[in-house]
Amino acid sequence: MPYGYTGKILHVDLTTGKMHVEQPQPDFYRRYMGGSAMGLHYLLRDMRAGTDPLGADNVLALFNGLLTGTAISGQSRMTSVAKSPLTGCIGDSQGGGFFPAELKFAGFDGIVLRGQSPRPVYLWIKDGEFELRDASHLWGRITGDVEDALHAELDDNRVEVLQIGPAGENLVRYAAIMSMSNRANGRTGLGAVMGSKKLKAIAVRGTHKPEVADKASLMELTKWGAKMVPTSDVAGLGKYGTAEVVSGQHQAGGLPTRNFTSGSFDDWEKIDGTTLYDTRLKGAENGQQDRFGRDTCYSCAVRCKRVSEVAEGPYKTDHRYGGPEYETLATFGSYCAIDDLDAIIRANALCNMYGMDTISCGATIAWAMECFEKGRIGLEDTGGLTIRYGDAAMMVKLTEMIGKREGFGALLAEGSAQAAKIIGRGTDEFLITSKGQEAPAHMPQVKRSLALVYAANPFGADHQSSEHDPSYKSYPERMAQIGLDKPQEQLALNEEIVRYAMVTQHLYSALDSINVCQFVFGPAWQLYDTVQLAQAASAVTGWNITVPELLEVGERRLNMMRAFNAREGIGRESGALPKKFMKHPLGGGKSDGYVIDSKQFEEALNTYYRLCEWDSVTGYPTPAKLNSLGLGWLVVNGKKAPAKSATGKRPARVKVAAGRSAAAKKIVRKKPVVKTAAAKKPAAKKVVAKQKPIARKPIAKAKSASKPKPAARKPVVKAKAAAARRPAARKTAAKSKPAARKR
Ligand code: SF4
Repeated sequence: MPYGYTGKILHVDLTTGKMHVEQPQPDFYRRYMGGSAMGLHYLLRDMRAGTDPLGADNVLALFNGLLTGTAISGQSRMTSVAKSPLTGCIGDSQGGGFFPAELKFAGFDGIVLRGQSPRPVYLWIKDGEFELRDASHLWGRITGDVEDALHAELDDNRVEVLQIGPAGENLVRYAAIMSMSNRANGRTGLGAVMGSKKLKAIAVRGTHKPEVADKASLMELTKWGAKMVPTSDVAGLGKYGTAEVVSGQHQAGGLPTRNFTSGSFDDWEKIDGTTLYDTRLKGAENGQQDRFGRDTCYSCAVRCKRVSEVAEGPYKTDHRYGGPEYETLATFGSYCAIDDLDAIIRANALCNMYGMDTISCGATIAWAMECFEKGRIGLEDTGGLTIRYGDAAMMVKLTEMIGKREGFGALLAEGSAQAAKIIGRGTDEFLITSKGQEAPAHMPQVKRSLALVYAANPFGADHQSSEHDPSYKSYPERMAQIGLDKPQEQLALNEEIVRYAMVTQHLYSALDSINVCQFVFGPAWQLYDTVQLAQAASAVTGWNITVPELLEVGERRLNMMRAFNAREGIGRESGALPKKFMKHPLGGGKSDGYVIDSKQFEEALNTYYRLCEWDSVTGYPTPAKLNSLGLGWLVVNGKKAPAKSATGKRPARVKVAAGRSAAAKKIVRKKPVVKTAAAKKPAAKKVVAKQKPIARKPIAKAKSASKPKPAARKPVVKAKAAAARRPAARKTAAKSKPAARKR
């Protein structure tokens, strides 16, 4: 087993209740490193093309990362991957908190979930042992209630809970997977996949820290980072959260307003990070918000998470549901022309209670507002609701209706792209989506490389899949570490900017595989640069990991995603940008008149596909490219990918090309070259935990062959040091709510 990992992956078949532990070989870990790439390995190996995203055959894989559970900042991350019910493409989403580290302490690098349970269940994992338990009493309940109920039931406030809310149960297409009742694996609707499997929650508790190869080097980096936080570029992020960027986005003309009609919001100061910090963070009334109003992820010194509260009034909100990020302030705020911060905090909390992606939820409401304003939908569509820009009460009402799939909310729960298809009447003119996913709050009209990434990213428009344009000029030394040494002017969309988009996309793809926080590790303003990331990864594993190797891991993961989409017949044609970006110049503010030139964009896209070495017509990864990345097992000449799932159903919303290109036909499943210990054994021998009836018996009685070896697992950091790093906010939360976790 490589250092840093547990060496164990838990496989769960929810249809049969059977579970087994796989122990992959070291080459598996070196090739994928963790997170997204590891999960993709199982999706590509085990799932047929054409699988229904909400059917039993969809595989939902959850993986932590290489650094997870060590003491360095920014390491407690969990990636979920599955086929997306929102887009029909690969689905991928990251989240932080304490669950990812706790899963590693409990003995697992990841969990692979298949099948569908006949009734609601939760998975309980404690120090290498595991069982499925009945969750009928939790079904239908909001996240905070479920967390409290599981803490009481398991008699341990330190149990970490990953769960879905009612939105996941209701198969809202952009339902999130939640932890701590305020952290979300938000994008691409994977909460609905968990809901379709009738898996309400995963509760974990563990006591075994990962072993580290070079403790001294990792500790040196850890201490350096903690010391640098107050004077580094992440100091503002820690104090004001991601909400800090509202101001800068507005000044640059890049704050999406009225559904991307403008990049400038007159009332931006009312929803800015400073206003949030000064007036709504817990403790603000006494100037104690740094102590009570900031939260963190496991062992992270940055502490960027918000703890906001609204004490009274129609938007009264419990602080346990966290506080809005920049994206949330924009989607529920400027997208909808709403300047009521309390209403936005309430909408954010509703998303966390019901388990929904705030970006897709707010953006879908903003789309409905524009449709209503322009007369494309009316009272007969909305069930009598008047839906106008600036109506905070209506925005909050719709958010709750979506979570419950009530009335017009049921249509909006499909996502704006699908709702536009259902309604028709030209409502697609106002969509701000790529591959059916609502765009985040960064404007390609202002940051041109994002036009490429929004179009070409395998899981739809995303703002955390590449570095944004201004950083090329602002961080030349750090950019040079990844071979980017020709900074370009703002608004350029030339070959060098295309290369910038691609290379930083590879790096961000690696970050999601190693599974680290992109606010802590990255190529520009982050706490640690790319060389330091390679040093940290080397210190943990004992491998000599270089920056080029990191970039290759990222490129491999990106090609795996493209291969997944290609099997579904989804390629370049699926990456059309929203019509508004090309046809409607922005109005007002610094970006007044900005529009994407369609000819220049298409030329840049051609360059992008050429540099990526993908088929320029279809956008599929070529066999040569896959082979060069050690993904030859995805290439079988002359064979077609299975067109139907084992259930025989083709998903209603998945676009399947009528006639695939030769390249698409070559991308099919084959046995991977990466060998796993489990793959060598007959299936029967892989089952180390017998299927058990779902019963409320103590976990300690469960039999498992995967019991950890306590003697071999000494904590990397002494308990005292680790405790000292835990922020006051966590301790305070525990004090104010007896049922909450104690840290
Ligand atoms: S920077 Fe923020 S989101 Fe990232 S690990 Fe630290 S607290 Fe969590």
